[in-house]
Amino acid sequence: MALLAAGVDCIYLLFFLALDSPVLAWVNVLSVAMYLQAYRLARAGRLHAASLLIWLEAFPHAALGTLMTGWESGFHYLLLMFIPAVVLTNSRTRARLFVAALLLFLVSLDFLARQLGPLAPLAAPALIALKWLNISIFVIMFSALASYFRHRINLSEKHLQALAMEDALTGLYNRRHFQQVAEQELSRSRRTGSQLALLIFDIDWFKKINDTHGHEGGDQVLISVGRMLKFEARHIDTLARWGGEEFVLLMPNADLKEAMVVAQRLRQKVEDTPVACHTGEVSCTVSGGLTLIQAHEPLNQAFARADRALYRSKREGRNRVSAEQVSEPVAQGQVAV
Ligand code: GH3
Ligand code: MG
Ligand code: MG
Repeated sequence: MALLAAGVDCIYLLFFLALDSPVLAWVNVLSVAMYLQAYRLARAGRLHAASLLIWLEAFPHAALGTLMTGWESGFHYLLLMFIPAVVLTNSRTRARLFVAALLLFLVSLDFLARQLGPLAPLAAPALIALKWLNISIFVIMFSALASYFRHRINLSEKHLQALAMEDALTGLYNRRHFQQVAEQELSRSRRTGSQLALLIFDIDWFKKINDTHGHEGGDQVLISVGRMLKFEARHIDTLARWGGEEFVLLMPNADLKEAMVVAQRLRQKVEDTPVACHTGEVSCTVSGGLTLIQAHEPLNQAFARADRALYRSKREGRNRVSAEQVSEPVAQGQVAV
């Protein structure tokens, strides 16, 4: 913005040179220098100093321009650009105070300009040209400001959306987002008739890991196991942290046999990969429960089935994956500990 303003002042500089108004031309040389300095300060992270310099340039410049060439020249339009910038970046009270002060400044400037008359009057055509130059610059700069703020709002919205679907500890999707994806995948599988598998993993003896390595060590295990599962899953699968030390994986286009191959690969990876944490290396295993989501059942029914399969894995010794189909429970691909 400061660079844009410096560019704008270069236009004024040329305008006043063309009109043979050396005083106003020199004012604009000073303005360009101030805006360039503000740009430098902003790049160096000194935002307060940069904005102070911009204010010190804009208000005296608009006042001087109005007093020299008259209210008709339209210099006061340029000050209106401060309204969105101030209102969007300050508290409500400060914004209101600013708007009131701006209004007072404009009324006083109009009064003074009428009392003193133009100190350096311009010929009528030049005055009209200057007025439209000021209005055009106001419209262009105001639009640039509006699109800058729209860009900032879009970025913030995207950031918030990403946060709303993320688990804060592991960075994986959270339960809510997983449920949304599962609903979408379920209606897709209804349309296409493809299979959809659901796997729940639970870290074995996690309480002991916390007891031995502290809560921080437990967190490090959760983060690392999450990463391993993400890395080993197929790219079309959706992985999420379900809560605590449980993870869920949704596998589209996978029948029970294919899903079991993936589940075993993930289980094996966790078993084979000790996690480095601040107290040393931690070895852990996971137990899994697997099922196929039926096209016309509610999701929680499929979750209940996967959960039953998981608890069977726990009962039967952990570090294994069990599957349960709709009609009868079956155990597949179990691995002896
Ligand atoms: P099992 O093999 O039967 O699953 O035993 P377990 O010890 O893993 O299961 P249990 O449900 O008894 O313990 C889970 C523990 O996970 C208890 C809870 O304090 C811990 N936990 C839950 N969320 C977090 C977390 O975000 N960080 C850490 N460090 N621990 C957590
Ligand atoms: Mg658990
Ligand atoms: Mg557990």
